[in-house]
Amino acid sequence: MDVIVAPRPSAHPRTLARHRIGATRGATAVATAGAALVIAVWWDAAPPALGRGAGLMDAGRLVGFLAGYVAVLQLLLRARLGVIERTLGTDAINTAHRILGCYLLALILSHASLITAGYAASGRTSLGSQLRSLLTDYPYVLWAVIAAGLLIGVGLTSVPRVRHLMPYEVWHGAHLAVYLALALSFFHQIADGEHFRHTAWLRTSWIVVWIGVAVMLLWSRWLRPVVLALRHRLVVAEVRRDTPRTVTIAIAGRRLDRFPATAGQYFRWRFLTARRWHVAHPYSLSAEPDGHRLRITATTTGRYSCELPDLPVGIRVVAEGPCGGLIATRRWRGPVLLIAGGVGITPIRTLFATVPSNSLTLIYRGHSTDDMPLSEDLDDIAERRHADVHYLVGSRNDPTNALSAQRLATLCPDVHHAQVYICGSASFVRYVHASLAALGVCDRHIRTESFELA
Ligand SMILES: Cc1cc2nc3c(=O)[nH]c(=O)nc-3n(C[C@H](O)[C@H](O)[C@H](O)COP(=O)(O)OP(=O)(O)OC[C@H]3O[C@@H](n4cnc5c(N)ncnc54)[C@H](O)[C@@H]3O)c2cc1C
Repeated sequence: MDVIVAPRPSAHPRTLARHRIGATRGATAVATAGAALVIAVWWDAAPPALGRGAGLMDAGRLVGFLAGYVAVLQLLLRARLGVIERTLGTDAINTAHRILGCYLLALILSHASLITAGYAASGRTSLGSQLRSLLTDYPYVLWAVIAAGLLIGVGLTSVPRVRHLMPYEVWHGAHLAVYLALALSFFHQIADGEHFRHTAWLRTSWIVVWIGVAVMLLWSRWLRPVVLALRHRLVVAEVRRDTPRTVTIAIAGRRLDRFPATAGQYFRWRFLTARRWHVAHPYSLSAEPDGHRLRITATTTGRYSCELPDLPVGIRVVAEGPCGGLIATRRWRGPVLLIAGGVGITPIRTLFATVPSNSLTLIYRGHSTDDMPLSEDLDDIAERRHADVHYLVGSRNDPTNALSAQRLATLCPDVHHAQVYICGSASFVRYVHASLAALGVCDRHIRTESFELA
């Protein structure tokens, strides 16, 4: 075991943001093309407003249509669709979700302001009395206002400073109000959208799109986990302490050779105990699926996870997924560098065992060996695959031997030509990514997953 002391990561968050923006470039192009299509369709379908305030009304209607489009994108990002999960990966999905959330609120507020101002100008009335008239005389406008209020409330709970004031379950529960808000807004769009009232095919298409997305969400978030649980009859088969602060849980079931799991991905696991059946937590597979058992490894230092070591064997399990894009790049056969921070080793361990490579290096950093499970597995895999493993154990505050560009190049001389996979806390991933960027490693060759709240 090559033990090196490592310091606290401290790269600037913008570095990761740049990387994430790079990772979402293709999706951004698709989303932008979709927005252009929405504008073109609206231009063709909506009759232009006339008279005073016409420009404001037209702008308000277009912005409202765009808000509906962004809402669809948000739902798709959260639908855990295999193609989106695998292509974008969790980090890019979370970033896109946050950015689109801001756009959505801005579009909704602009829509409300422009429409109210436009109608007020048209009717030569005050903004206040126009707003009252919109609420009482138009169908579903009140519903839309309630929806906007809910979305703004959810947006506020997602501001990091506010979010950290509440337990995850409260934040997550508040987030579910988004579905109610979007359902309310749907009726407003269909009933009041000028472009829908005048163009039947557009109205029908929009209804089909929304129903299609709702069905996808319902299937992948709620029905599919139940189907998987019934089909595979997942149960806890073994609970084993790995280190004083981590536990490994083996999950058995029927026909697991058909269970849709890929090395590097994660599921949201729900253990059906009397106390915790209502919560699902994301944990990556810590062993490659072998058709007989699934395995996860978790730290046990949190409010929920401290109870994991006491999970009774035989308890039923529901798994939502697979999620995430930290999977082996197809066709890559060159050098591979895997970098894990703490329990970020879980998906990295499965890649270490499976990723095709002609030169394989793993760097595993942790504060103490108590936070570094799976090292026995890693040593076995390293021997079998003739790979290098470097354990970097030490205090965050020790300034020597950072995972700096220089250190990375020393530990993995192939780093410039390697496909790199990183997993750990968000700050760890940021720091390592900054070092790789300094070495000139191209974003295309870096895949990351941060274990952070989504
Ligand atoms: C994609 C992904 C993969 C992960 N894989 C692993 C893994 O393989 N092994 C591992 O040990 N950890 C993993 N985690 C982290 C793990 O899910 C959280 O640390 C754990 O759910 C927190 O529960 P707790 O009881 O330990 O902490 P708590 O004390 O309950 O909460 C601590 C913090 O954890 C976050 N959190 C709490 N509940 C949830 C939840 N249901 N979903 C998401 N975040 C939550 C919140 O930010 C909260 O502030 C992963 C996280 C993500 C996002």
